[in-house]
Amino acid sequence: MRQGDAKRIPMAMLANLFGGGKGTHALDEGAWQAVMEQPVFDGLDGAERVRLRELAIQMLADKAFTGAGGIEVSNGMATAIAAFAVLPVLNLGYGGYEGWREIVVYPGEYLYDGEEMDESGIVHHVRHARSGEAMEGGPMVLSWQDVEHSGQGEGFNVVIHEFAHKLDMQGGSANGRPPLHSGMSPEEWAHDFQTAYDDLCRRVNGGEDTAIDPYATDSPAEFFAVLSEYFFEVPDVLQQEYPEVYGQMASFYRQYPLVRMKAMLRGE
Ligand SMILES: [Zn+2]
Repeated sequence: MRQGDAKRIPMAMLANLFGGGKGTHALDEGAWQAVMEQPVFDGLDGAERVRLRELAIQMLADKAFTGAGGIEVSNGMATAIAAFAVLPVLNLGYGGYEGWREIVVYPGEYLYDGEEMDESGIVHHVRHARSGEAMEGGPMVLSWQDVEHSGQGEGFNVVIHEFAHKLDMQGGSANGRPPLHSGMSPEEWAHDFQTAYDDLCRRVNGGEDTAIDPYATDSPAEFFAVLSEYFFEVPDVLQQEYPEVYGQMASFYRQYPLVRMKAMLRGE
């Protein structure tokens, strides 16, 4: 979730870190069909599904999937991860995901044992469980258990979360301000996100039981990643809570998941 310290990744896994080269896994047809049944893909038309599949194949050719903590990554697992991963770039193209190679998959939440800087700049040694992590210019780590809980239209998707961090990092460090398309206003983006972020922080600090996961208040970077999960998984919740953010994300991702959801509800 937060940017981490690559030192704790065993050296054996770093072999494929740099350079392009071939992917390690192939698309598994059965797994592809199964994952496409998940609610997060509801409402995509035939042409969009074809494009999604082409992007997933591109990802499988580009990334090296490595099992850790005692699991081996099957083609089916890599296929499911790739399917979720490319949904955000369905209308953007694959370019934002290039420049790094390794996706490390743990069986479940893994223990982060390292250092973190607090708001006042003090570095603390911490140990806690994580479900995923995206490192600037480097590998991504995912918990398979959390991947399996993703895509169900419940506001949780660890893959979309970590890949949103990767899109954010195109502009440098993750800060909730990814590079925007021409025609989008960085000032309006900053204003709309800051207003919503401040509002959620205030409500969470006030003890309110919010519709958005309080983890989003951790930082503007986490706010962007968590709300990206809501944008794709439960766009109605995001529209209800923070319509300006929904609008900014629709412009950024060039998708309208709420329109897809409403079409599904009408039975189209
Ligand atoms: Zn995160």
